[in-house]
Amino acid sequence: MPPSGPLRSGPAKMCQSCHVGPVSTYRTATRAGPVGQREGAVGLTTHAPQAAQAVTLPTTLDEAVAVLTATPAAVPVAGGTDLMTSVNSGQLRPAALVGLGRISEIRGWQYQDGHALLGAGLTHARMGRPDFAALIPALAAAARAAGPPQIRNAGTLGGNIASAAPTGDALPVLAALEATLIIAGPSGARREMPVSYLLAGMEMLRAGELIGHVRVPLLHAPQVFLKATGRTGPGRALASVALVLDPARRGVRCAVGAIAPMPLRPLEAEEWVARLIDWDNGRAIVPEALSAFGEYVAAACIPDAAPAEDGSAQQLPPAVLHLRRTVAALARRALGRALS
Ligand SMILES: Cc1cc2nc3c(=O)[nH]c(=O)nc-3n(C[C@H](O)[C@H](O)[C@H](O)COP(=O)(O)OP(=O)(O)OC[C@H]3O[C@@H](n4cnc5c(N)ncnc54)[C@H](O)[C@@H]3O)c2cc1C
Repeated sequence: MPPSGPLRSGPAKMCQSCHVGPVSTYRTATRAGPVGQREGAVGLTTHAPQAAQAVTLPTTLDEAVAVLTATPAAVPVAGGTDLMTSVNSGQLRPAALVGLGRISEIRGWQYQDGHALLGAGLTHARMGRPDFAALIPALAAAARAAGPPQIRNAGTLGGNIASAAPTGDALPVLAALEATLIIAGPSGARREMPVSYLLAGMEMLRAGELIGHVRVPLLHAPQVFLKATGRTGPGRALASVALVLDPARRGVRCAVGAIAPMPLRPLEAEEWVARLIDWDNGRAIVPEALSAFGEYVAAACIPDAAPAEDGSAQQLPPAVLHLRRTVAALARRALGRALS
């Protein structure tokens, strides 16, 4: 059985100790209203939704940043699958919209120093295609699982990150890959930050900034994304697991999605199982290790209940125990598939 003990935390590696409540990707979003909301976009509770005052359709990233900087009340919109839900329900009344759909530089990807530089405007449908799946299989699998076809056709990678919903399917994959964001700012400025910083609220997007690209290492090894929805057909994740092998570093990286405000990295379980893999012999592993890994991941992400005041052991509620079993099964299967 795997050793027990608390999860180790690190700035770029998310773990249980990083539970910090709802994540906002903009500094202004913490004041009120939905995640990703910018200054001037009014959160409503009593008024009917109104049409936006103005829509701008820039064709370059810098142009979009310039409009957002000049119009602090404006809100960027990519596919609109998250944003327009908030508008239609009356939660958000943006004073102006900046459409990102015509910015061709963020709709594709390119290679750069052993990495893929993914445009924030890549749609789930595009990422689900075979050529992309050959590049980053886990992200392609997550994209194929993200909602019904009309959502996948419109919804984008950048929108998924900026919304930072716990059920965002791309997020555990990006966490496991230790991806970084290239943020476009005023006057052509670019800065880079780990995606985990944004999801954990350690750093925010500043006024006028946009997610331009996502830098993902190309590992050339099996990757798996698995999602449990509790229903047949497309649905939001109850739990998800992304697992990637990094043969060059003899590493296994795993992230669990949907069970916490941000993806969780069970770092000790990763290190434990990586030592059990015979990396020089077809990545062989004893079958018992797969189950033990599943249990280790699940227990790390959903710990036992604290003892009662009199010291007696407390049971987790049945629904939480079920979730824990689901995470264990997903992690076991993900590792088994990656190593098969
Ligand atoms: C019916 C339905 C089912 C869904 N199912 C799933 C699912 O199974 N899995 C899943 O992961 N998601 C699901 N979603 C959520 C949604 O489709 C995704 O999160 C999608 O990726 C959002 O992208 P978008 O381009 O539509 O974002 P938008 O709605 O355009 O924007 C969302 C937020 O991100 C901001 N934003 C967008 N682009 C940028 C950028 N480049 N830089 C900075 N900020 C930006 C916007 O201002 C806004 O605050 C579902 C949504 C619906 C309506």
